[in-house]
Amino acid sequence: MPAAVIALMLVMLVTQLAGFVYTSRQQQAVIELRNQTREMRIVQQALVDKKSAVEDYLLTDDLDHLQEFHLASRVLEAEDTDTLRRLDAFRVRRDTPSASQTLQLLDAAWIKGIELSRDGRAAEAHNLLVSDGMHGMVERVRGEINDYLAARNAHGERLEANISTGRTVVLALQIVSGGLTVLCLFVAFRLGRSEANGRREAMTQALEAHGRVKILFEMADILQSATGYEDANAVLRSSASRLLPDLHGCLYVFNNSRDRLDLLTEWNGERADQQSIAPGACWALKRGKPHVNTDAPFSLTCAHHSGDQQVLEVPMMARGELYGLLTFSSLNTNSVPDQKANGGIISALADAMSLALSNIALREKLRNQALRDPLTGLYNRRYMEDMLDRFVLLSARTGTPVGLVMIDLDHFKRLNDEHGHLLGDTVLRAVAQTIKEGLRETDIACRYGGEELIVLLPDCTLEDAAAKAETLRARVEALSDIHGVRITASFGVAASPETDSSVRDLIASADAALYEAKHAGRNRVVATAARVRDTLAIAAE
Ligand code: GH3
Ligand code: MG
Ligand code: MG
Repeated sequence: MPAAVIALMLVMLVTQLAGFVYTSRQQQAVIELRNQTREMRIVQQALVDKKSAVEDYLLTDDLDHLQEFHLASRVLEAEDTDTLRRLDAFRVRRDTPSASQTLQLLDAAWIKGIELSRDGRAAEAHNLLVSDGMHGMVERVRGEINDYLAARNAHGERLEANISTGRTVVLALQIVSGGLTVLCLFVAFRLGRSEANGRREAMTQALEAHGRVKILFEMADILQSATGYEDANAVLRSSASRLLPDLHGCLYVFNNSRDRLDLLTEWNGERADQQSIAPGACWALKRGKPHVNTDAPFSLTCAHHSGDQQVLEVPMMARGELYGLLTFSSLNTNSVPDQKANGGIISALADAMSLALSNIALREKLRNQALRDPLTGLYNRRYMEDMLDRFVLLSARTGTPVGLVMIDLDHFKRLNDEHGHLLGDTVLRAVAQTIKEGLRETDIACRYGGEELIVLLPDCTLEDAAAKAETLRARVEALSDIHGVRITASFGVAASPETDSSVRDLIASADAALYEAKHAGRNRVVATAARVRDTLAIAAE
């Protein structure tokens, strides 16, 4: 565009210069023409004057007329011979003498006539000078001069017309180039202004982007210290609300059995339509890519999507594993969240949060590995012993009872031998699960070793512990129908402070009661007898 404008302006400039040169040349030609016609008129006048002076002299013999004749002759001689040459060149007829020749002939005749008149031969002089031939010559030269002047006049008019056209063209070009200059200045001004605006906008965007990157870095940094889902959710809520204030967001994560995603948290309002999502019904999770749910006809929509709000769903992946789903919907409009403007932030949020969830899951797994038995998911023996220490100390301090139930699966060796270890493992897991489900949240079930389990029942008396053991026994026996094999267990119950006051004694008593139950025929609960002294002491208290 600027190159084209410069080229156009150059063309205009050259054209204007050419116009100037052309018109000044034409003006020069007009001035020359005027000089030539003026000179020609002088010649014409001198010719007429000479003729009149000679004729008047012949009539009057007045010497003044001779004077006039010589004066006119001088005028003629003074004129440039070019004038006559031009006249000769202009003449059309070539069969008669040229104007300059004619003037010489006339001059000779006039001088001869004057001499004859001076010699007193007036009649001869009169015959010579006032003859038709002389008159004809004068008229012919005058006629030629008149024709010449008419032609020069016409040429002059043409030149004037050319000058006028030239001036008009130059003026028009000046107006156009002036207009173009103004236009260029205007365009340059607009371009400059829009460039300045663009720079300002780019600066603002860069500052905003810097702010966003700072928030993202902060978020990633704080997420490192998140110890659990609550912490991570709080960081996500805070960062997402600041980074994407116009979007409502939800975080769904897999439940333990990974057959459902539960709503963990939401921000910028409470408007989540779904409390849980089935993974098989979500296109974002199935494709592992962001997906937009709209109500547009023929669009691919997840089964869990409801309402007419358009929702962007982003799967959260870290270390090659899916951890959950982030959903975003616009707060103010029903349009799809602008992925071009926010796409980077959304994926950065999803990445940071996925990594945090993955870290939390990893930490949980490590903690579980330290605390729990991998096969049954129950607490391990070390953890149970720690907890039992605490409960017994608390019991001694406050008198709060704590029950201990030792469980041993009956003829488990036989079950393994007859049906294989695989079923043995399955049964062991099922027993652990049913026992866990039969307990309070505050109770602790652990795998003591092999097919032996221990259950700690804080705030539970011997009698209540025995009752609980009976319930658990029935639950274990009920598994027989489910697995198609006889599944029973024997239970030994003890309690602090009713039966024992130390950890070692408590376990030994429960073990002894369990031994009794085995010997009494298995699939039963045996409780240790309460110590009379301690019971009396408690009663006294
Ligand atoms: P009782 O009724 O007297 O307790 O008989 P039992 O067969 O259950 O007792 P025993 O101590 O003779 O055998 C325990 C068996 O439990 C031996 C072992 O194969 C099995 N067992 C221990 N741990 C596991 C385990 O993790 N998985 C499986 N499948 N079996 C286990
Ligand atoms: Mg055993
Ligand atoms: Mg056993």
